[in-house]
Amino acid sequence: MASPARIPPAALAPGPRETPRPGESARARAPRANVVRRPRSSPRARTAAGPSDVSRSGAHLEDVILTNGRTTDMAHALWRAVLREGDLAVDATAGNGWDTVELARLVTGESSGRVVAFDVQPAAIASTSARLDDALDPARRARVELVLDSHANMMRWLRPRRTLEGDAGNRPDPDSDSDSDPDPDPGAGAGVVCFNLGYLPGADADRSVTTETGSTIEALRAASEALRPGGVVTVVGYVGHAGGDEETRAVKAWAAALDPRRFTATVHGVVNRINCPQLIAVHKKRE
Ligand code: SAM
Repeated sequence: MASPARIPPAALAPGPRETPRPGESARARAPRANVVRRPRSSPRARTAAGPSDVSRSGAHLEDVILTNGRTTDMAHALWRAVLREGDLAVDATAGNGWDTVELARLVTGESSGRVVAFDVQPAAIASTSARLDDALDPARRARVELVLDSHANMMRWLRPRRTLEGDAGNRPDPDSDSDSDPDPDPGAGAGVVCFNLGYLPGADADRSVTTETGSTIEALRAASEALRPGGVVTVVGYVGHAGGDEETRAVKAWAAALDPRRFTATVHGVVNRINCPQLIAVHKKRE
């Protein structure tokens, strides 16, 4: 797995989007101060399906169920019910960036809102960065931070930021042993922390890198503490690939054991479709 990364922009190696493609804008190619980049180790991954039209239309959960029943669209419907502009949202598994873009659309404005997105693969960070560049205007794009680190370390990265333009003054020191020093104060708290488990989709992607039960559960513990009251952790779990079934069952068992005075945990999924992914949602009760 890649080590945690905070790299001065000037020291960054050219990323996978540094080479112009026909018709590509200069904005999309420009290196960004708030993007953690690492030398590319594998070809850029392509391409999972993004949100469907029903999700993009702002549909409620029942609309999603009655149209396509897609699990990721169900998660998006829950986010829409919870998130407001100005919120903090966390994508624990950035992948190809579809979910990160969706979160950014919901929480970022000209001068408020923040998304922090994690992935352990440089190819995923690059793919998400490119999708954000294409989807967002510069002001909103600047409010999304990509972190090349495991979601198990998310508490280290969720401290309030002094500025959004390269001030790393209160960012974690990757050389310090911060495993023993988790930040107990993630700021205002996240409205949503989302997980989409499994491997990076795409023909060129390395499918041997998948989420793993141990670090997923560790990250979920952190995520549930990082939530603000009324916030939700969503997990899309897959049952059709090696390890996915076991991981999804472990997530459900973790959620089922949460204190019902603090959290309400739910499971959504289409049961009359083979190997349909499941949405596990953990809602933090309002105080
Ligand atoms: N949400 C993504 C999207 O919208 O395209 C799809 C995510 S993909 C199914 C799962 C991602 O989790 C992969 O890109 C993989 O590299 C990443 N991953 C695996 N282990 C991780 C970890 N410990 N921390 C953060 N990301 C991890």
